[in-house]
Amino acid sequence: MTRGKQKEQARERAQKLADKNKGGKSQIGARAAGLKISCPTCKAPVANYKLLQVHMEAKHPKDTIPPESSFTT
Ligand SMILES: [Zn+2]
Repeated sequence: MTRGKQKEQARERAQKLADKNKGGKSQIGARAAGLKISCPTCKAPVANYKLLQVHMEAKHPKDTIPPESSFTT
């Protein structure tokens, strides 16, 4: 009885670990797919408009940041 339960627990643990690894992989994929906009000045890919603002202020302080609406379409 106890042996069978231990086996079951081991299988559950292995399954959980596999799920965890799968989840990590898909999360990275989703993040890569999220790179939809790029810097209009140097064409560097940026994940979102907020990061573009940060990038523009840091790398191209003399350039005007285009409005967010120009990226959402
Ligand atoms: Zn740039």
